[in-house]
Amino acid sequence: MAEAVKVIVRCRPMNQREKDLKCEAVVEMVSNIGQCQLKKPKDRLQPPKIFTFDGAYYMDSTTETIYNDICFPLVEGVLEGYNGTVFAYGQTGCGKSFSMMGITDPPTQRGIIPRAFEHIFETIQVSENSKFLVHASYLEIYNEEIRDLLGKDHKTKLDLKEHPERGVYVKDLSKLPVNNVRECEKVMDLGGKNRSVGSTLMNADSSRSHSIFTINLEILDTGTSGGEHIRAGKLNLVDLAGSERQAKTGATGDRLKEATKINLSLSALGNVISALVDGKSKHIPYRDSKLTRLLQVSDNVVHVVHPILKLRYMES
Ligand code: ADP
Ligand code: MG
Repeated sequence: MAEAVKVIVRCRPMNQREKDLKCEAVVEMVSNIGQCQLKKPKDRLQPPKIFTFDGAYYMDSTTETIYNDICFPLVEGVLEGYNGTVFAYGQTGCGKSFSMMGITDPPTQRGIIPRAFEHIFETIQVSENSKFLVHASYLEIYNEEIRDLLGKDHKTKLDLKEHPERGVYVKDLSKLPVNNVRECEKVMDLGGKNRSVGSTLMNADSSRSHSIFTINLEILDTGTSGGEHIRAGKLNLVDLAGSERQAKTGATGDRLKEATKINLSLSALGNVISALVDGKSKHIPYRDSKLTRLLQVSDNVVHVVHPILKLRYMES
């Protein structure tokens, strides 16, 4: 199967502060054709800048719709033995966690991650001719160093290794068996707690690190006459660090070094996606960062949720 990348854009509603400031939205969307238009706040007569995506979701959109449109087919592929990745990209506060983790009320805004858990285990329950073995792992990349969020020691740095057949993997990374949605959520919570403990120890903020929650599926086909056959599928759910620029935040010293490393992974990711979307480049620069090396898998299908595209408000 060819590599396929889909990029969608989601615009969140204004928050209270923006409403209080009487901000004006400069983004418009023509959802049916995936178009996003940015108006110039100071010059209304200028034509808007137009960007086209595989999907454009405005302020009133729900994660349910986004899941059904974009994530559902991706997860179906994983259940057939392909690899898939979903991640959200954007500045801090633009709605990445809202899209990925979500809220429980209203149910239409439950996140992509819990929806993927449910989707996977519902399919497993009703499948008649296959048996599934499911393992979860959860890691963090901070300053280009990899740590196991399910391991005993948050300080141990893990190494990336390359296996001739299995490809790139993290040596000694914990893989916990999970049998249902509840167990997946428990593993996610455990890792989340370790993530904040670790960031406190390192005097960092968890929004400065990237985390990857991976669901590994081993699929044993039992119904076919040609004997047993095992396939493996993998779903990566990625929570990226905020993409804000450093010039603005005035970081110096360690903070600047850290920011440079975060941006290294983020810009490497941007380059990989451009090369994949472009379709012409023979060389996909996966090797440029740990994040992109890890997400590189031969038949990877990467879907990107990009909640906001340079959304700027005009203070009136
Ligand atoms: P990020 O993870 O990108 O830093 P968050 O997901 O934490 O940002 O979102 C920032 C705030 O905006 C949160 O309070 C969140 O609940 C709210 N928010 C984000 N997206 C939406 C949305 N589509 N609808 C309603 N509230 C949203
Ligand atoms: Mg967040």
